[in-house]
Amino acid sequence: MEKIDWHGEVTSVQPRIRLNRSFDERNHGYPGYSLRIEGAVSGNSQTFWVGIGKVAQEKYEFHCGVSVSGKAHPVQDSRIESVEYYKVSGLSVPVLAKEVQIDGPPWQGIPPNLEVYRSRGHRRLSARTYESKCSSCIWGCKMPVIITVDHWNPEQHQYRFETFCYGPKSCGFYKPGPTRKVPGRKGMSWEEGDWVDEEATAHRESDE
Ligand code: SF4
Repeated sequence: MEKIDWHGEVTSVQPRIRLNRSFDERNHGYPGYSLRIEGAVSGNSQTFWVGIGKVAQEKYEFHCGVSVSGKAHPVQDSRIESVEYYKVSGLSVPVLAKEVQIDGPPWQGIPPNLEVYRSRGHRRLSARTYESKCSSCIWGCKMPVIITVDHWNPEQHQYRFETFCYGPKSCGFYKPGPTRKVPGRKGMSWEEGDWVDEEATAHRESDE
């Protein structure tokens, strides 16, 4: 399949993180970063998300306001990607970035490396708040979630998306939304209570 051309202005840079769930267990994969672009794909104006690797992010230090162009493949399995295009090549950053507000909320500067996200830990974030306030914040993340319902049948999965916040616990925009339930064997389900988020972020002060 040939890659398609795209270009536009970066309006969000967020970590691209995948979440695997199996009842009360969870682990994360870290494929890179997601760029939201306001621009065009194959000459058609649109807003879209592109997945890039961590090496590309380290090299170009993308942040809001940067103009960029490149080539990419459309995502093949949209259940396990929060972006629409990936396998990017030919990245080009032709002009200086325009000035944007960096201090948040929402924070729109250069995001930290993925190890920083891993070590900070996250709290669940209301999907509605993510869409209305947090989609341009470096601390927001919309993760594809792959659920193994029955560990005796590990090839069968359920899929969904969940939104999270890695940002300061004092952020005024933050709303957790309802607790999340993870389906398990024989109709059982596990509810991820507030204590999970408290434990994951207990090492951070309120403003960190
Ligand atoms: S709630 Fe989290 S993701 Fe949203 S603006 Fe605040 S720090 Fe950013």
